[in-house]
This record gives sequence, structure tokens and C-alpha cells, in this order.
Amino acid sequence: MSQHKHNPAKAIQDIQFFGEFGGVNPSISDSATYTFLKAKTMLDTFEGNTDGCYLYSRHTSPSNHYLSMALAKMENTESANVAGSGMGAITPVILQLAHAGDHIVSSRTIYGGTYAFLKNWTPKFDIQTSFVDITDLDKVKAAIQPNTKMIYAETLSNPLLELADVEGLAKIAKKHGIKLVIDNTFTPLIFSPANMGADVVIHSLTKFINGTNDTVGGVICSTNEFINELKNVNDGSSMLLGPVMDSLRSAQVLKNLRTLPIRMIQHSKNAAYLAKNLEQDGVKVKYPGLKSHPQHDLFTKMMHPEFGYGGMMTLDLKTGDMATEFMERLQDKNVGYLAVSLGFYKTLFNAPGKGTSSEVPEEEQAAMGLSDGLIRMSIGLDFDIADTYQKMKETLHEVGYFKNNLQTH
Ligand SMILES: *Cc1c(COP(=O)(O)O)cnc(C)c1O
Repeated sequence: MSQHKHNPAKAIQDIQFFGEFGGVNPSISDSATYTFLKAKTMLDTFEGNTDGCYLYSRHTSPSNHYLSMALAKMENTESANVAGSGMGAITPVILQLAHAGDHIVSSRTIYGGTYAFLKNWTPKFDIQTSFVDITDLDKVKAAIQPNTKMIYAETLSNPLLELADVEGLAKIAKKHGIKLVIDNTFTPLIFSPANMGADVVIHSLTKFINGTNDTVGGVICSTNEFINELKNVNDGSSMLLGPVMDSLRSAQVLKNLRTLPIRMIQHSKNAAYLAKNLEQDGVKVKYPGLKSHPQHDLFTKMMHPEFGYGGMMTLDLKTGDMATEFMERLQDKNVGYLAVSLGFYKTLFNAPGKGTSSEVPEEEQAAMGLSDGLIRMSIGLDFDIADTYQKMKETLHEVGYFKNNLQTH
């Protein structure tokens, strides 16, 4: 597959930006507005005709430009534009591509905020969305209408860890002349969706890419043409809605990006260890690195193999009460934190049915296999993962998981 010629970690390694005084990190821009020596240059910059000139920090700042260029290199796209949050990246893309009277085909298992935006917010402006099982390409094809403008999916979906066949979806999108938008938040470096035909690749930088859970952030990676459209001063959604990232934060995210390759390898290694051992113990665990994952083979075909199968796994503890007790006890033992979000250096866990996916109505949750006892875990960078595993197993015993298993057999 062509994506393997481009190595996203090597792309990060090759990034070279110097500071104003020869600093090994680029200088942080501490200005909202920028001066011009000639009035004409200012006018040209307004029209987007000058490279290397800055106008106003809602449009772009040097610090945001550095981070954007680094992320474009990572995703192998021509350009990128960072945003103040993941939602600050997702919503302008949707509103730039779909207008009143248009239609969107979206995966039904997506981040709760994106789901709420497509289900509750965009209909107010007469943009309708059909939610489909993204793993079934025939269902995707069947959902496309004459007014469909985009297919929206997450490479690895939140929270059910369903994999989107990006190449297959790209073929459908191309055939209909519509855009394929992929949220790659769960799987940075592991997948390069643009190499597989995605038109727009989005990340919430809040998660693995920043990795320290101290800020929210987002990015849109795409062609020069689309990024310039988003930043257009007259009708660009990113420019006019204004979800801008602060320069101090983007400088920090750029530094954290440098260690993303080694972090992803460790997240994947730890999650694979836990998933394999817990499955052997008879625990209902879903992890794309396990043969039992319905799309294990497709994942293997699509991935950059050196980064593993990622840090996300789910456990199904049958009842919501058991899941709650399990998580509270894990937190007491300092295995991790009962918290939403993911990609942190410590393990994070939550029950998405009642939490991050609570925007999804209960009957729809049941239809997609999102049970009350489902726990989403973002596995941390633990040095001693065997010890973590022992604690998890011991806690499963404490909450009666194995006892109940015996009773039902
Ligand atoms: C968290 C998340 C988002 C939203 O990002 P924010 O930074 O919280 O705005 C979007 N998509 C996915 C897959 C996420 O996990």
C-alpha cells in the first residue's frame, strides 16, 4: 500500500524549525496582530497572496503555523490548520463542506460531541445526516443521496473500536464526487488516512498527540486549497467562527509531538499485553490487536506496523454497577483515573454509555452494542505493565466478574 512509503514518525523527526536567536525550538509568537512595512503587503496578505506574512492571529500565527506544518508532514497532506479544540477543528470542516439543504453520511459510532453536532445542531440549519454502520460499505453506498456532500468517519471509532475501511470509503466518495473526512484521533501514526484517499484528516490534539492532558486542541490536515478556504477572511469557517489555538499552547503541543512515536509504541505495547492476558482469563475484551477483533486483518493491512494496535481497549463487565465498582477500585489502587478523555500518560477509564456517548439515545446505544457495562480504557505508559495486569485481575475478582461467569456457564 502506498502509505508505507511515508513514515509519519520519520516525518516528525525530520522537522527542523529554529528560534529567532538560533533556539533549538522555534520562538513563540507573543502577538495578536502584525505590522507591515508597506500598506500594499497588508492588502495582499488579506487576499491570501503573501507567503510568510502574518496578519492577525485568528488567521494564523507563527507558532500555530509551525505546529500546523509539522502535523501536515505527519499526515502527509499539503497543509494543515490547528484549532483551539478537536470540536473547533471538526465543526468548521463540516460547515465548510455542507450547507443548508445538504446531506451527510456519517458513521453511527463517533465521538459523542460530533454525534450531537450532526444529530441536534446542524439540522437547525437544514443539514441532515444519515448515521450508518461504517463497517458495511454497502450500507454507506445505499445512504448516499444526490445532495450528499461528505462521508464522515473515525478511523478507529469511539467508543466501540470499529475500524473504517478508509480505502473502500474513499472509492465511494470519489465515485460520487464527495469528500471523505476522517477523524484519526485514536490512531495517530498508526494510520495515515490521507495516503488511503481521505480528503480531510482531523485530530483532537487533546488526546495522544499532546499526551499530557493539560490543554484541548485540534487540527485539520488537507490540501492547500481546502485549508485556504477555511481561513478565507470572507467566508472561511475557521476564520469566521474563530476557534483559534493560543500560540503558547501550540508551542507546547509541538514539543510534545516530538515524543509521540515512542509514546505510541509504549501505549500499544501495554494495551496489547493487557488485552491478550485478560482475554486468556476469559474477560470480554475488545482490542484491534486481538484476532477476536472482527477487523483485526483489515487493521493489520492498513497500519504502519511499527506503532502497534494502539492504546485503546474496551472491557464489557456486563452490568453498569459492576463497571462502576471496578473503575472506582482501580482508581483507589492508582492503576489510573476515572476520567473521560484518552491518550494520557496514565491510564484513563470511563463507561461511555452513561458518559461520553450519553448524547446517543439509549435504543441506538443498544443497537450498536454499547452496553451499560462497557468500559473504555486508554492504557497509559506504565513501566511495569505486568503489575498493572495483576491489579486489574485482582480487581475483577473483587467485583465478582469471574464468579458470575461460572454461574452463567
Ligand atoms: C475528544 C475527541 C474529539 C473532540 O476533541 P476536543 O479536543 O475534546 O474538542 C473528537 N473526536 C474524537 C475521536 C475524540 O476522542
